[in-house]
Amino acid sequence: MQIQELIPLAPRTTMRIGGNARYYAELQTQRDAEEAWQFAQQNNVPMIVLGAGSNTIFADGTIGALVARVLANATDVSGNTVRVDAGASLATVVTQLAKRGLDLSPLTGIPGTVGGALFGNAGQGPQGIWIDHFVQTVTVLLNGEWKTFSREECEFRYRESIFKHLDHPLLWKTTLSVPSRAAKEIESDINTLLKKRSIAQPFTRTAGSCFKAMNGTPAWKIIDAAGLKGAKVGDLQVSDKHANFLINTGNGTYDDAKSLVTEIREKTGSPLELEMRFIEESGALLQ
Ligand SMILES: Cc1cc2nc3c(=O)[nH]c(=O)nc-3n(C[C@H](O)[C@H](O)[C@H](O)COP(=O)(O)OP(=O)(O)OC[C@H]3O[C@@H](n4cnc5c(N)ncnc54)[C@H](O)[C@@H]3O)c2cc1C
Repeated sequence: MQIQELIPLAPRTTMRIGGNARYYAELQTQRDAEEAWQFAQQNNVPMIVLGAGSNTIFADGTIGALVARVLANATDVSGNTVRVDAGASLATVVTQLAKRGLDLSPLTGIPGTVGGALFGNAGQGPQGIWIDHFVQTVTVLLNGEWKTFSREECEFRYRESIFKHLDHPLLWKTTLSVPSRAAKEIESDINTLLKKRSIAQPFTRTAGSCFKAMNGTPAWKIIDAAGLKGAKVGDLQVSDKHANFLINTGNGTYDDAKSLVTEIREKTGSPLELEMRFIEESGALLQ
């Protein structure tokens, strides 16, 4: 595994925002993961794990961290038990399992990796089905040691897991229990869900929902009610289609995104909690 320096991060996020990683590595094996962790320790920088960057933006300068991207993406199916690496594309896993009559269709249309989905318990809205519904175990590199978490130990809640509260854990693989259903029925549900999304959501430079729901009320309702659809700071805009999606309409910057978040919080009068991950130049997470 090679550690690279000053690697651009914007192309590695769906919103295309970010400067350079001080250090950058792509991880294929568990040994790579261990070596990356050791490098971060020796160089006294945090190891920030990146999946597909579909929920993350970085500050515009040099991020003082080792940004480590998980590329391992093997899937192994045995009956209803599916073992999958964190770097696998969730959308690919959903469609491949459908062909074998295994139903992950509630997770249709969510961009990103399995690791990113586990980290933030991705899924439908606050009342829907999330990935935790299917999880049996998650194997993680934590403080240089491998540990397998049971579903209970993961402490999943709406867009929450224990992993958000640990010291830079690296999620490596998971075991899922996936129910059986006729492949044709699953594929039909997948197509219906994808059509719904194409109507409700913009497909452009965005990182999905910016804020979490508040006490069960979707953030888009709160933002829409404040008349903020289309609001703009620099090249960052609140989507006209979905008020909780911020869009990079051109050369949007990290500071534009932060200013738009501040404006939304002020004008809605709500202390909306970020769902998107804003990574500061120091490597710290913006709250
Ligand atoms: C158009 C669009 C629609 C979306 N719709 C939904 C939706 O319906 N529901 C939903 O929940 N989300 C949705 N999202 C948000 C996003 O797709 C999810 O949050 C997704 O799970 C992020 O995966 P990722 O691999 O891109 O994560 P990244 O953006 O790369 O990372 C997100 C966070 O997870 C951490 N992380 C990622 N991989 C690992 C790992 N292996 N180990 C440790 N930490 C890791 C990162 O450090 C970061 O803090 C949408 C996004 C877009 C752009």
